[in-house]
Amino acid sequence: MILVNARATFNPEGPFKLTTIERRELQPHDVLIEIKYAGICHSDIHTARGEWGPVTYPLVPGHEIAGIVSQIGAEVTKYAVGDRVGVGCMVDSCGECSSCHKGEEQYCLHGNTGTYGATDRYGHYTQGGYSTHIVVTESFVVRIPDNIPLDAAAPLLCAGITTYSPLHHWEAGPGKKVAVVGLGGLGHMAVKIAHAMGAEVTVLSQSLKKKEDGLQLGADHYYATSDQETFKQLAGSFDLIINTVSAQINIDAFLSLLALDGTLVNVGAPADPLAVNAFSLIGHRRSFAGSMIGGIRETQEMLDFCAEHNIASEIEVISASQIDEAWERVLASDVRYRFVIDISTMNQE
Ligand SMILES: [Zn+2]
Ligand SMILES: [Zn+2]
Repeated sequence: MILVNARATFNPEGPFKLTTIERRELQPHDVLIEIKYAGICHSDIHTARGEWGPVTYPLVPGHEIAGIVSQIGAEVTKYAVGDRVGVGCMVDSCGECSSCHKGEEQYCLHGNTGTYGATDRYGHYTQGGYSTHIVVTESFVVRIPDNIPLDAAAPLLCAGITTYSPLHHWEAGPGKKVAVVGLGGLGHMAVKIAHAMGAEVTVLSQSLKKKEDGLQLGADHYYATSDQETFKQLAGSFDLIINTVSAQINIDAFLSLLALDGTLVNVGAPADPLAVNAFSLIGHRRSFAGSMIGGIRETQEMLDFCAEHNIASEIEVISASQIDEAWERVLASDVRYRFVIDISTMNQE
């Protein structure tokens, strides 16, 4: 076992404490990554607080990992020591089911192995990126292009791919009208990526507080959903709506904004069921869909796309001692737009 330092929570309420965790010895296809930055995702909070099911403590969250390869297993062919790499929300899957064969490992029929809070094929409990090193099989590691700084790249591994995948799947591009609901960590990436794909982008946010930001990030239009006029004015407008909000929203009201054959895709996951009136769907052959992260091949494609279009996340870098404070700010929507932990501060008070 390889002992590494990490920040873990020992119960649902926290706080985070500096501790030591075990990483497995390198298997022939494993890569040891020295983590430089780890993004803070809302899912980290849901998971650590047990809101998505029971978890084992201590728990080290973090599935937006950017770092440098520091050692490779005997049969690794994809990576060399010194390579800039990333790890996202999963670190393994069965590799044999129809989803895995399609390169959609996130939908593995046997369940993918989460980067933290899961049991891997060796029977080892997985721990995430709020730590100095991680061991991952090379097929679940992606390459971070040279022109994306590692800190701004980290959130692409979850927020980036979670929005890129549905935009790509439902063919956002020139001539397509795309709306993004919510301008947070996911929403700001959806705006940047949809804009780079050539779509006409509208932000639908609760208020106009972040309007200037939204337009700067690449949105063409910005509307407040607290204003009922918005729903009248934009009725039947969009080909695709990406809903990044994980709270309860009025799905029927948002479906009414879709054009013929339009699709509303949920990437956020509210704890309680969402109600949908069938008439909202059948009237204009609309779809209500969901999408979860993306496959490994698609994650690499997303990183290369971001490099080509010179986009990455808007971030606020924090030290490891500020994780608890940052979580509170995430819950208060007080972040523009992603916190990233500087892992070099791991041992600081
Ligand atoms: Zn995430
Ligand atoms: Zn599978």
